Formats: sequence, C-alpha cells, structure tokens
Amino acid sequence: MTETADQLQLIPPYCPNPDCRYHFGTNVRFYVKNGFSLTDKPPFQNQRYKCKSCGDHFSANTFRLDFRKRLANLSENVLHYSLNGMSNNSIARLLKVNEGTIRDRLKTMARQALYFEKEHRPQKISEDVAYDGFETFTHSQFSPCYVNTAVGSHSLFIYHNTFSPLNRKGRMTAEQKIKQQELIDKHGFYPRDSVYIESLYIFEEFASKAPGRKIYMDQHRAYERAIRSLDFKINYETISSRRRRDPANPLFPINHLHSLYRHFFSSQKRETIAFQKHEAALLEKIQLMKIYRNFMNSKFVRKNKFDPHAHEKSPAMYVGVIDKILSFEEVFGIRKLPSQISLDQREMNFVKRLYPFSRQTIAV
Ligand SMILES: [Zn+2]
Repeated sequence: MTETADQLQLIPPYCPNPDCRYHFGTNVRFYVKNGFSLTDKPPFQNQRYKCKSCGDHFSANTFRLDFRKRLANLSENVLHYSLNGMSNNSIARLLKVNEGTIRDRLKTMARQALYFEKEHRPQKISEDVAYDGFETFTHSQFSPCYVNTAVGSHSLFIYHNTFSPLNRKGRMTAEQKIKQQELIDKHGFYPRDSVYIESLYIFEEFASKAPGRKIYMDQHRAYERAIRSLDFKINYETISSRRRRDPANPLFPINHLHSLYRHFFSSQKRETIAFQKHEAALLEKIQLMKIYRNFMNSKFVRKNKFDPHAHEKSPAMYVGVIDKILSFEEVFGIRKLPSQISLDQREMNFVKRLYPFSRQTIAV
C-alpha cells in the first residue's frame, strides 16, 4: 500500500485524550475532519481531526508507529533484521541510518508489543507449561542474569519472560576477582532472591490460570523454594538437566526457544561484540521475540508429522487468542498509548526502563 492510500484509509480508532470517553476505542464516528497540516515527508499532508466529545485536536499521524519520527517506515525491516540475527550496527549500515535510530525503533516497538500482548493474553491456560531460566549477561560477564521463561508444552506459546540479575560466581582469575570486588564496592550486590521472586510471580499466575495442569522445571533451589512458599499446591515435576535434550524431554519447549535466542540474537552468539549494553535492551529484544514467535510466525517452519498444523498455525492460534498469523501491520499498525492499557508494576517498569539494580545508565 502506498503511503497516500494508507493515510486516506485511516479511520481514527480512539481519542488520544485520556479523559475522553472515546479514549479506549469506539465504533462511533466521534471526530470531524479539521483540515490538513503540511509535513516534510510524502504525502506532505497530514489529515487533522477534532474530537466531537472533548474537543481535542489530533491528526492521522497520532496513530502511527512512526509518530514524531523523522524517518518513516523503517520499523518493519528493523524488526525483521534484528530478530533474524543482525546486530544494530549492521542494520544501521544496511538501512543507512544511525545506530541510535535502530535502538530507538526497537524500544518503541517493544513497548507497543507489550500493549498488544496485554490485549491478547490468554485468560486460561489449558496445557502444561515448561519453565526455566535463560542464562546470559548484560554489559559484561560481571553482570550475569536469567530470563525466566515459561512456555506452553504443546503450543510453544511464550507466556512469560521476566528478568533476574545474578551475582557472578564461580572461577575467576585474580584480575577478574579484583574487578568484581571493585564493582561490588561501587554498586553493592545485585538482589539475591530475584529468581525466587520472579518464579513465585509466574507460578502464582500459572496456578490461577491453569488448574490441574503441570509445570515442568529443572532442579533449581529457587524454584523449589518458590513452590514451597505458595499458599496452595501446584502440580509440578523437576527434570534433571542431565536428561537428553530431545523433543521427548518435557523441557524441550524451553530448550528449543533458548536455542533460538542463541541462534537469532546477534547479542547471544559466542564471543560476540554485539552484546546487550544494558537490561532494558535485552528485555526489549526478548519482548519483541515473544510477539514475533507467538503471533507473527507459525509454530514450526516445516511440516511436522506429529503436529500437521504446526507449519500453518502460530502459537497464539493454538492457545486460542487469535485465529490467524498476523502481519507487521496488524500488530504494530496502530499506535497504542500507555494510558489505554492497565499495566502491573513489572510492566510499568519495563515501559519506563526502570531497573533499579542496574549498574548502567539507561536512557529513557
Ligand atoms: Zn475526545
């Protein structure tokens, strides 16, 4: 679709004023057209509107992902390249823009991905779930972390990715020990019970949404502690990490996803120089992969003889929250505002890039 046709077709989906009764969307024609403003990009004009209810002014651009961005229509390519193994630096060179532009688009899309996900979250989970942490680091090996991941055993739907910083342990050279001590003197330790707290959060939700279902996890002390401190029983089974990692392993859905992270994130390749610079950048990539895998791609690329629809149905279709594989436009086409979505504390922190334990300066 050309930009002009796109612009002409746009129907304002909501009023941007958070106090307006049309803020959360409506089928009512709540606006009147109110002239054009001129812009410096094709099609060089931007339709303006006025809300009939509250009188606020807004324009067609208000609802676009590229709202107030100088270069339009980069985002789809940025998403695709970024989730298929290119570093921000390579994408920037390919698209002939600054690396900062790439980082900015990823950040904007990650927030939109969260809003989209909130509106399409399953209310019930009718399958078993595999749970484990993806171990990686941000900034340097002195800041290891876990991405706590819950994935549907049958659908491969990614239910959760939460973040836990870890304190570096294990063997270090004398030089590394000195460096580690310097960092601790300067910043203190990372919170020590984050894996426990995040596991508790995920298990509680699982228990309320998936009665009677089982959660598979590996033998991790923090997981067992979280299970024990629940007020109710949940059905779970621990799987030895020595067990063969083949499709028959109940942790296969997790192992599979984690191998995709290693394969498709330039930041997760061995000895990479494209590592994530801070917690926000890592979590935003993970959030984008979640939407990309859950909604925008089939469960498997190829036909699977045990699961004949796996190459034509997305995980979200298996879970029953949507009935087709979605395009970029269908997920990101209409910009949502944070005031339209109810977010919990974790999600709010994600949007605000708030990582109180971070040792890096994270631009908002
Ligand atoms: Zn209004």
